[in-house]
Amino acid sequence: MTNYSPGRIFLSAPHMGGHEKNYVQKAIEDNWVTTVGPNIQGFEHDICQHTNARHAVALNSGTAAIHVALRVVGVKAGDEVLCSTFTFVATPNPILYIGATPLFVDSEPDTWNMSPTALREAIENRLKKGKKPSCLLLVHLYGMPAKLKELIEIANEFEIPVIEDAAEALGSRYGGHQVGTLGQAGVFSFNGNKIVTTSGGGALVTADKNIAEQALFLATQAKDQATHYQHSQLGYNYRISNISAGIGRGQIEVLETRVKQRREIYNYYREKLQDIEGIIFKPEPKGCFSNRWLTTVLLSEDLKVSPEEVRQTLEKENIETRLLWKPMHLQPLFKDSLYYGDGLSEKLFNRGLCLPSSSNLSEEELDKVVKALKRQFEV
Ligand SMILES: *Cc1c(COP(=O)(O)O)cnc(C)c1O
Repeated sequence: MTNYSPGRIFLSAPHMGGHEKNYVQKAIEDNWVTTVGPNIQGFEHDICQHTNARHAVALNSGTAAIHVALRVVGVKAGDEVLCSTFTFVATPNPILYIGATPLFVDSEPDTWNMSPTALREAIENRLKKGKKPSCLLLVHLYGMPAKLKELIEIANEFEIPVIEDAAEALGSRYGGHQVGTLGQAGVFSFNGNKIVTTSGGGALVTADKNIAEQALFLATQAKDQATHYQHSQLGYNYRISNISAGIGRGQIEVLETRVKQRREIYNYYREKLQDIEGIIFKPEPKGCFSNRWLTTVLLSEDLKVSPEEVRQTLEKENIETRLLWKPMHLQPLFKDSLYYGDGLSEKLFNRGLCLPSSSNLSEEELDKVVKALKRQFEV
């Protein structure tokens, strides 16, 4: 059960910028309390401005955006979809919604994201069996950009469309480009725990006008052009509300500040914990700029204490930490899925921990976390 006790230090809490209530209040005054209205267009415009995406479609969750993205790039029941195994379950779940099958691909050590070597192995293995994957769904985990150049080159070589799950990586950049904007479609999440929030929401971005139009069509019940209600395709009720979009407008105003604050939190932990040899931080590879959504550390075997023990100890002090995502190919839900790689994500899962990373943490709170960690390791 979620713990809301007073004074709790959360892993990643919402952090309002101040102008959200103006947009929400205006929506209520003008009676745009629905899934159409000026905040929605405004929010989509803001997303494009901040990410340099050509088109944005605001939806009611990141999961919905992944589902719609898979549909618009043409994934059908019975297809196979290449997918990062080191991620949150919301990445592969929509593959199952469609009746397609995930092919899980493991990570490489520089970014913890999809390994280009394992990706090529997966594609070649399936081609030998006479099956061609119909999509590549890759993740930028914890805000760290994946090796997009290599991954997209491989996908292009085999003419496989790319969807970027940038749910955790809004504001991160790869080679100067905002992540989410380099594949056929990109997905952001505005869930309450993400770097900015609409309370719950998501967006699909794309450079392709047809993809944007088709995504909006599917997300609004796939109504054919007719005055009566006529439907030839399966659609969804996935549009964002004008109230949520109003929160989003206020949040996008402070996105750059939130990225700066999360990066400062990462630097704070790294500096204060540098004396503890067994705590390993992840530097940014060349060309990668991470929003540092969550600060993650690996605890070396020498520390003789497991991430779960650390989590439990900090929990007693009302500090929320979290183990790294348990890889999808190890989940009971996906026990029959194919998997390609060398087991790196499982090793990361066994030794890793996410530290409290809310952008509104005070210096005292950060100090409390650092002291609690230091006590744990008796430095
Ligand atoms: C949060 C998240 C999602 C899903 O976003 P929701 O808005 O919560 O549906 C998808 N993928 C990853 C990697 C996430 O962290």
